[in-house]
Amino acid sequence: MIPRIEFSNLAPDTHVCKSHKQGDVIIWTCQHCPGYIRTYNEKTGVLYVDRAGSTATHTGRSMGAAVLPICSEN
Ligand SMILES: [Zn+2]
Repeated sequence: MIPRIEFSNLAPDTHVCKSHKQGDVIIWTCQHCPGYIRTYNEKTGVLYVDRAGSTATHTGRSMGAAVLPICSEN
């Protein structure tokens, strides 16, 4: 069996973000919400979110060394 991460428990309007990495910072963007951005600095642990007016729930994970699931209501 190959382990997989499922998003089957998420609400229908949950947006799954795409991630990429720039140095120590992981950046998530949403293809449904122009302007939405979430960043996480692995070194400092600082999380930053700009929802750009979106009210949807967003989730995403890093494809880097650490898997970081995200589910945010704010
Ligand atoms: Zn979105």
